[in-house]
Amino acid sequence: MSERVDAVVVGAGAMGATSAWRLARAGRSVVVLEQFGPGHTRGSSHGATRIFRLAYRDPVYVGFAARALPLWRELEDAAGEVLLEQVGQLDHGRPESTAEVVAALRSAGRPVEELTPEAATERWPGMRFDRSVVHSPDGGRCWADRTVAAAQRLAAAAGAQVRFDTPVERIEVVGDAAVVHAGGVSWSAPVVVVAAGAWTTGLLGALVDLPSLLVEADQPSVFAPVDPSGPWPSFLHHGDPVGGVDRPLHFDAYGLETPGEGVKIGGAGTVGPADPDDASRVPDPARTGALVEYVERWFPGLDPTPVATTSCLFTTTADEHFVLDRRGPVVVCSPCSGHGFKFVPAVAAEVERLVTGSGQATAVWRIDAAR
Ligand SMILES: Cc1cc2nc3c(=O)[nH]c(=O)nc-3n(C[C@H](O)[C@H](O)[C@H](O)COP(=O)(O)OP(=O)(O)OC[C@H]3O[C@@H](n4cnc5c(N)ncnc54)[C@H](O)[C@@H]3O)c2cc1C
Repeated sequence: MSERVDAVVVGAGAMGATSAWRLARAGRSVVVLEQFGPGHTRGSSHGATRIFRLAYRDPVYVGFAARALPLWRELEDAAGEVLLEQVGQLDHGRPESTAEVVAALRSAGRPVEELTPEAATERWPGMRFDRSVVHSPDGGRCWADRTVAAAQRLAAAAGAQVRFDTPVERIEVVGDAAVVHAGGVSWSAPVVVVAAGAWTTGLLGALVDLPSLLVEADQPSVFAPVDPSGPWPSFLHHGDPVGGVDRPLHFDAYGLETPGEGVKIGGAGTVGPADPDDASRVPDPARTGALVEYVERWFPGLDPTPVATTSCLFTTTADEHFVLDRRGPVVVCSPCSGHGFKFVPAVAAEVERLVTGSGQATAVWRIDAAR
């Protein structure tokens, strides 16, 4: 059987579902093909929350996150629920890194406060600080599961066909069109948006000359605060360069509070290579052990026994930038590299521009730039 639509979106994670909503809202006929069921935990978007921050060392991301802010509010209005809370963000640790964060925020005209470790300890007694501390009140948390569910719901309400449990087997380019094969149907469209996260290379390898995408799993754990009333901003702990390589966005550990659950902490030695098709993904006790040691050292306000540990896929380019670009009828939407969630509605707006050719894409990461 074959069907024709204006756009096929592969993947109903955060990026695919939100892009589909925008495209359907603009009047396009859209089908979204998702290999797993709603609310699955096999990709990169599951879990209650993600860090939202404007605080980046690279001004490009400060600008992109600032652009995402009003688009988050628009998505919230459409969804009728809170998806983003600006409870603040701390960057602390290596002074060279925090200085770049301060410079990038100031040049974008965003509020930023520099504190001594002593002043920061007084304000956030649950955390330990040893070097520079920077507070950005614009930061906070996105509600991740809620966002994905809302985007899937909104896409369907705007007219998109959202098909779960429908793995895409193959994509071909025939003339100017893409033909997408899934579940016995060949979907033909002038454009296919591949928002397949960790599966991108497997799906597109032969069709688009992608940069190498490293798939890793992080296994963050949740820790209970000793004093549940304490303030818990989101945070990044910038470590010293490892092995002489200081990647542009590199940090040692990250974390944030999920009200009602605890403080989720990841990084700090918990990231390792992963196979996206391995459904078991049992947390590695050695990696959890490294995280517990980190919490014992840096968080006097947390009980260091994890209350939960999860696994989630990072898909990372060598420079930790995104891949967001178009080749013929194929839009590659792989904005992960472990830090994509905060940009979800801004990425979807870029995808819409790439699909429709309406106006210049404003923040596109080229396929051939990310090697
Ligand atoms: C542990 C962890 C912590 C993170 N923390 C933060 C944070 O604090 N702040 C932040 O901004 N970002 C964070 N991120 C990154 C952010 O979560 C990701 O950038 C984002 O969720 C990626 O969304 P996605 O839609 O690209 O990928 P996914 O959610 O993985 O969606 C891809 C979808 O494509 C589907 N798919 C794949 N292949 C096929 C196929 N052949 N056919 C049909 N469907 C297919 C998959 O099943 C999946 O549902 C974190 C990521 C992880 C893993």
